[in-house]
Amino acid sequence: MLSFVTPAPRLPEIADVVEEGFVEEIRDDTTGDVHKSADFLRRELRELNRFRGEQEDLLAAGKPRFRCAHCEVGVALRLSALRRWYFRHDEEDGSCRYQSKGFLSQDDFDARRYNGQKEGPQHIRMKRLIRESLTRDGTFDKQSILEEVRWRGKVTPGSWKIPDVQAMRNGLRIAFEIQLSSTYVNVMRQRRSFYLAEGGLLFWVLTRVREEDRRQFQDDVLYPNNCNVFAIDEETVALSAENAELTFRCGYLEPVRDGWTLKERWCERIVRFSELTLDPVNQRVYYFDYDNARSEIERALRTIDGRCILDEFESLLRCRANQDGNVLDKWRTLKRSLPDAFTWPLDLYGGGFFTAVDIYLSARSGRPVGWNYQSLIQTAHRCMDIRPDFLPLLEACFSTFGRSSIFTDERYAAKWRAKRAKAVVDATAKSDTRTHLLRLRQYRPAMEWLMPEVKHAIAATLAQLDPR
Ligand SMILES: [Zn+2]
Repeated sequence: MLSFVTPAPRLPEIADVVEEGFVEEIRDDTTGDVHKSADFLRRELRELNRFRGEQEDLLAAGKPRFRCAHCEVGVALRLSALRRWYFRHDEEDGSCRYQSKGFLSQDDFDARRYNGQKEGPQHIRMKRLIRESLTRDGTFDKQSILEEVRWRGKVTPGSWKIPDVQAMRNGLRIAFEIQLSSTYVNVMRQRRSFYLAEGGLLFWVLTRVREEDRRQFQDDVLYPNNCNVFAIDEETVALSAENAELTFRCGYLEPVRDGWTLKERWCERIVRFSELTLDPVNQRVYYFDYDNARSEIERALRTIDGRCILDEFESLLRCRANQDGNVLDKWRTLKRSLPDAFTWPLDLYGGGFFTAVDIYLSARSGRPVGWNYQSLIQTAHRCMDIRPDFLPLLEACFSTFGRSSIFTDERYAAKWRAKRAKAVVDATAKSDTRTHLLRLRQYRPAMEWLMPEVKHAIAATLAQLDPR
């Protein structure tokens, strides 16, 4: 009865996006960069869900990171009825050229369904199942197991929440909230902020954890929770009694290495509460540590014979900057140790391959790699002079490694703004851009392997070839 089928691994899921309408261009306040929304959103769901949660908190605090490029109003990340991502004005007064009013999103739809079910039989059943499971577990203080009782804020007096079920365990107060269908993401974030401030822990409980249902309503819980979700049902209640311990059905994503590629697979298993990692600081509870497993695989993927390939590339580009030795020979030697599953440039140009790698490595190390410069801003200017079409890649690399503040540094900001504006024009105006990008396209798998953090920007850079 508890047999689970583990599906085959696949590539981490990339978001589908709404191509036009809504807020088509946004500005990222952390960098000052303007992005075409469709390009910006076409990235891993895991990352988008993180942006979405953070942006909700920032909107609530009145200092959004993402704004409409046209009217400056803060924008929220939303999903259409077909589960395509788009940006919507947080407040819409009809004055902006981009309008998203009157459109019923999947969030609205799910939230309506959810509200309809709030006091329905399913909700009542779930509260009972959670309470029954808790009473079987001696580590929870019996007196503390309460249903629909107000949790008054101590940190912010006057604030309160009413968790579906709450209980104390070893001094930690846990709020069990039932997710029947999507709750509005801003409501989820408000609850998260409350319990975080109160030193409690918010624990979402689902009715089931099936992969095929995932996209319907689990992603909002799954991605912010280190890719783990938990469910309680009649069967797990019986197991809680048998184990004398709170027991769940757990669904989680497991990153796996498949050759030179990172994939992930959906796993399901029965877990006991004592097997879980409680992380109140980040408001997470997980059985499997996805983040840690993934960073280990990403590191291992770029380690060959114990040597970090990124360091090898950095040393090659430094040699080129210093003009010492025969750099082409060094490249040929390095190439022999690289996976032959990918196509690698014959020489040191490769349609701008090495410029792309230089941008990435410079941003990674925080100092110029491929030229003898003093400051990263010089690398940025130089790259925009020779390859204005690399702007999406450059901005993504600087952002990924936390270097974007250099663009708003008052010493450089005005000059950079001018250079950036010129690059946007030059990228499509320069007649050889197409030639370079066509040549670069064959190295896309190699670039994605070397620079997985900026995969979305590699795609956006190459997409400039596509007819608009
Ligand atoms: Zn607007």
